[in-house]
Amino acid sequence: MTTRLDDLPLRDDLRGMKPYGAPQAALPVALNVNENTHPVPDDVAGDILDAVARALRDVNRYPDREFTALREAFADYLGEGLTREQIWAGNGSNEVLQHLLQAFAGPGRTAFSFDPTYSMYPLLTRGTGARWVSGVRSHDYTVSPASAAEQISEVRPDVTFLCAPNNPTGTPMSLDVIEAAYDATEGIVIVDEAYQEFAPHDAPSAVSLLPGRERLVVSRTMSKAFAFAGARVGYLAADPALIDALRLVRLPYHLSALTQAAATAALGHADTMLGMVDEIVSQRDRISATVEALGYQAHESWTNFVLFGGVADPAATWQALYDRGVLIRDIGIPHHLRVTAGTADETTAFLDALASIGSGS
Ligand code: PMP
Repeated sequence: MTTRLDDLPLRDDLRGMKPYGAPQAALPVALNVNENTHPVPDDVAGDILDAVARALRDVNRYPDREFTALREAFADYLGEGLTREQIWAGNGSNEVLQHLLQAFAGPGRTAFSFDPTYSMYPLLTRGTGARWVSGVRSHDYTVSPASAAEQISEVRPDVTFLCAPNNPTGTPMSLDVIEAAYDATEGIVIVDEAYQEFAPHDAPSAVSLLPGRERLVVSRTMSKAFAFAGARVGYLAADPALIDALRLVRLPYHLSALTQAAATAALGHADTMLGMVDEIVSQRDRISATVEALGYQAHESWTNFVLFGGVADPAATWQALYDRGVLIRDIGIPHHLRVTAGTADETTAFLDALASIGSGS
């Protein structure tokens, strides 16, 4: 007889939970998890390979537990006068967020965000034994400063997530919302800027709000704009005292020497690595315009994906696209689907497949 999950002495608060589960199907056109579909450029890949090869010679030793060179490189990349004492990193921003929750959430505490938002926030929160509470957005998925402050004052969360711009809707969030949220709580406020590089060039980052706000955290990832999802590198900027809190919960040597070498080498080529961002933004805008022309409604996006509504039967449209070799995401918002901007060819394949299925409701 095979053992079922329920047969195990699992923590009561984990019973009934579902793991993160975006389908990983080997379809020709995969536009479902907001990856950067452009590979790392050849010359940069060569440099990264050299750095990894050098690091490999020392893998008999534990890596630099403080990943000093990498933190320095992230501080340089973010600018705003940041120093390495204000930087933390992990195996993807998911791990960085987990460290934050391990330090500031946990049993008896509460984490909060505005629905719909990134599906891992509740999972990571519950994984630490904390309670998850969802707030609401207005019909266009924005949150006003007044509404953010009111909802946060009512819930009194220990940790508040502000996904800016928001996944899965693409919605921008202005700095006044972040300031209002911060002023409304005594807890930690995490601004998740996973998609910030896809925002308009003059859109300010919440990094500019860090001075004087010791409970504010800005997290980023190399998975999207840097085309580095497979390497698993995320990072954050915050007050040095907050970084000290994360040292209490991280595993010793959590960032491998190979990861540190690869990420530091990649950051040395930030301009080239980010070279595809403008091209991806133009494919995103092409998706928005074309799905509108096909009779759907595209939501404003400052990310590398588009959420579109007016889909009569999302499961059926998702399947019809799948059958045509195109994988996108049904994120469970009624009458909506989400698609990542790919290369020009992948984007064309998606748009042609969608057009062949028939128009929106
Ligand atoms: N935050 C947001 C909003 C995301 O969409 C994602 C990935 N989809 C992440 C964080 C995690 O990214 P990673 O762990 O690859 O850095």
